Amino acid sequence: MKIGTPKEVFEGEARVAMTPDSALQLQKLGHECLIESGAGTRAGFLDAAYEEAGVTVVADAGALYAQADVVAKVRQPSEEEVKLLREGQTLISFLNPGGNAELLEDIKAQGTTAIAMEMVPRISRAQKMDALSSMANIAGYRAVIEAGNNFGRFFTGQITAAGKVPPAKVLVIGAGVAGLAAIGTSTSLGAITYAFDVRPEVAEQVESMGAEFVYLDFEEEQQDGAATGGYASVSSPEFREAQLAKFREIAPDIDIVITTALIPNREAPKLWLEDMIKSMKPGSVIVDLAAEKGGNAEGTVADEKVVTDNGVTIIGYTDFPSRMATQSSSLYATNIRHLMTDLTPEKDGVINHDMEDDVIRSATVTHDHEITFPPPPLKVQ
Ligand code: NAD
Repeated sequence: MKIGTPKEVFEGEARVAMTPDSALQLQKLGHECLIESGAGTRAGFLDAAYEEAGVTVVADAGALYAQADVVAKVRQPSEEEVKLLREGQTLISFLNPGGNAELLEDIKAQGTTAIAMEMVPRISRAQKMDALSSMANIAGYRAVIEAGNNFGRFFTGQITAAGKVPPAKVLVIGAGVAGLAAIGTSTSLGAITYAFDVRPEVAEQVESMGAEFVYLDFEEEQQDGAATGGYASVSSPEFREAQLAKFREIAPDIDIVITTALIPNREAPKLWLEDMIKSMKPGSVIVDLAAEKGGNAEGTVADEKVVTDNGVTIIGYTDFPSRMATQSSSLYATNIRHLMTDLTPEKDGVINHDMEDDVIRSATVTHDHEITFPPPPLKVQ
């Protein structure tokens, strides 16, 4: 089969879904690889590197969509791109199927099978294809780097001839994939790092990374929120009050807050409120990774950096992975390559779209002229 990757058309998107390395691996599965000219340039992968890896460089998107049996990309297709999709073709991309009923209808109408990368289930077997996690890992790292870039002091404490420098105090809210990456980055830069999560089972992981887990003065266990598929559920009002009280208590002492709290298919919970922001020192920084879903902090504006009257910077960028396009593209292309491995069990360049396979079934959102989203519950958790 021919696997083709077009240039991303979403404004500002610098990632690319195929790299020269991933193309080499895809060819080992018996596939041919195509790339639209210039698709990898913003991520640091030039046409010549693809050619060297045996990839055919095609002039434009029209030619790419016309030739490819499988189109692998990062962002959901634009209206123009949907028109280029064909009967019998497979599209692999982020598609936000829960919020994109019309797009799914349009893809179905084209007779195209669509695989939504965000629907890869969070189970051990599928980790290597879990693009939400690989991108969240990058976002967590980059959130700390961005915070440092906007913070007027060192992370680590120092004793110098010119004076004693206290270490920065960083609070990470939500210790999932992005949060753990942020914690690791923050501790490695030498900050005193605190972390909070509704799932008590992450405390050990947080502590093993050199951060301090924030416990609540709450009678029940930290939360019943283990929920399904590695995601949290909604907190009870009492628990939320205890959580906010704790945050209120520590806010004046915290220099940097990284918020990553997510509950699937919901608006982001508001956890860092205006009064907490007002009590922070001037020069403090909040990086709100949940900006796209409304933000965990009050005052976050998606895709912007705002400075409050009391001098606190709130960063709501939603494109952290694209800001590290080389790394993100490498990991995303590897996720796609692993998915293609599962779709090509005989390594003979022939795709077997096995709807009995839990991972493939979950991620497939249109198939055989049907919308196949939402998927049935997983057979194996
Ligand atoms: P995840 O599900 O792995 O982690 C979220 C964590 O938040 C979980 O551990 C959960 O228990 C915790 N949580 C839920 N409710 C909470 C609450 N009330 N208080 C404290 N913790 C709570 O998710 P992830 O993959 O790490 O993604 C985190 C966020 O980062 C998401 O909102 C995602 O959309 C976002 N993200 C942003 C960018 C960007 O560029 N801005 C990029 C990638 C991901």
